[in-house]
Amino acid sequence: MKVQPNPARRQFIKQAAAVSAVAITPNIWNKNISFIGLKPKEKVGIALVGLGYYSGQVLAPALQETEKCYLAGIVTGTPDKEKVWAEKYGIKDQNIYNYDNFDTIADNDDIDIIYVVLPNSMHAEYVIRAAEAGKHVICEKPMALNAQECEDMMKACKDNKRKLSIGYRVQFEPHTQEIMRLGQEKVFGSVKLVNAGAGYREARADHWKLNKEMGGGAMMDMGVYSLQAARYVTGEEPVAVTAQTFTARPELFTEVDETTMFQLEFPSGALANLHTSFGMGMNYLNVTAESGWFKLDPFSAYRGIKGESKDGPIEFPQINQQAAQMDEQAYCVMEDKPMRVPGEEGLRDMRVVDTIYKAIASGDQEKI
Ligand code: NAD
Repeated sequence: MKVQPNPARRQFIKQAAAVSAVAITPNIWNKNISFIGLKPKEKVGIALVGLGYYSGQVLAPALQETEKCYLAGIVTGTPDKEKVWAEKYGIKDQNIYNYDNFDTIADNDDIDIIYVVLPNSMHAEYVIRAAEAGKHVICEKPMALNAQECEDMMKACKDNKRKLSIGYRVQFEPHTQEIMRLGQEKVFGSVKLVNAGAGYREARADHWKLNKEMGGGAMMDMGVYSLQAARYVTGEEPVAVTAQTFTARPELFTEVDETTMFQLEFPSGALANLHTSFGMGMNYLNVTAESGWFKLDPFSAYRGIKGESKDGPIEFPQINQQAAQMDEQAYCVMEDKPMRVPGEEGLRDMRVVDTIYKAIASGDQEKI
C-alpha cells in the first residue's frame, strides 16, 4: 500500500488541537450526490452483521459520531438483541435481519453498505452474500481464513460491481499516516528495521478466538497489526518469512497460537522483527532508518496513539478512528472513489499469514 495524499495532514500540523475527528476524510461534501445505482441520499446507511464486542462497544457508538453514514440496520442471530438495539439506536423494524433472511436485504434501499463483524471464519461467506445482494461491503480484519478466500471475496464484489474495504482503522489515523510517509518517502533514508508487537491477554477459555476452525489465534487477531505496520512503513511486500510459536498456557492454547514471533525480509533488504500474543499486553512500533528513527507507542490502540522521531514529537489530534474510517468509506461509495483500504490489502496480508503458518510448520525460511 502506498501512502495516500491526505489534504488535511498539513492543516493538522498547524492546527493540531483544533481539528475534529472527521477532518481526515476528504473535505468535499455535497448533499445531493448521485449514488452509483442508488438514489441520492444525505447519508449512507450501514448495516452491522454480528452484534458482538466490536459492533456493540465500538462501531455502533462510532456511528453516532459519523457525518456521512448512519446505523441503518442490523443482522443478528440473537432475537433478544433486536429490541435492545432497535430502541437504543432507533433502527426500523424492516431493517432488522437474521442469518436466515439475510439475503432479502437486497430489497432494502435503506442499506447501502454491509459491515461484516463476525468471527473470522464467517467473513468470506457474508462478504460474498452481501455483494450478491448488491451491497457494498466493509469486512473486519483479518479479511478471511486464507488468501484463497480473499480472492473469492474480491471476485464476488467485482462481479457484482460493489466496493470492498477492510476495517484497518489505523490507516485512517493521522499519526499512522505520518509514519507511513516517513517510511515510504524515506525521510530518514531507507528503512532498515521495523520492530513491532501487538498483543493482549486473552482469558476467555470458551471464545471462538481460541478455536482454529473459527479463525482464532493471536496471529490472525493482533498479528495482522504488526504485519501491517511492517508493510505500511516500508511500502514493500515481504519476500521471505521465518516464524516461531510459543505457549505458556498449553491447557488453553490447544488449537491456536498464543504467542507468535515472525521475521520478514523485504526486497530492499529491510528486515522486520514482529510479535503478537494472546498472553501479554504490548503495542509498539519502532523503526530504524538509514539516518534516523521514528516510532509509535502505542501504534494500534483505539486512542492515545503517540509518536516520536529523531527530530522530536509526532503530534496530531486524537480522533475516533472508526468514525473517520466509516465516514471515508461512505464518502467513497457516494462519490464512486477507490477505497483507501481495498480487498487487495487484506489479500496481501493473508498471503503473508499463510506463509507464516507454513514457516511455523516447517521451521525453515519460506518464500512468499
Ligand atoms: P465477538 O465474539 O465479540 O462477536 C462476534 C459476533 O458474531 C457475536 O455477536 C456472535 O453472536 C456472532 N456470531 C454469529 N455466528 C457465530 C458463531 N457461529 N460463532 C460465534 N459467534 C457468532 O467478536 P468481536 O471481538 O466483535 O470480533 C468480530 C470481528 O471483528 C473479528 O473479525 C475481529 O477480528 C474484528 N475486530 C476488529 C477490531 C478492530 O479494531 N478493527 C476490534 C475487535 C474485533
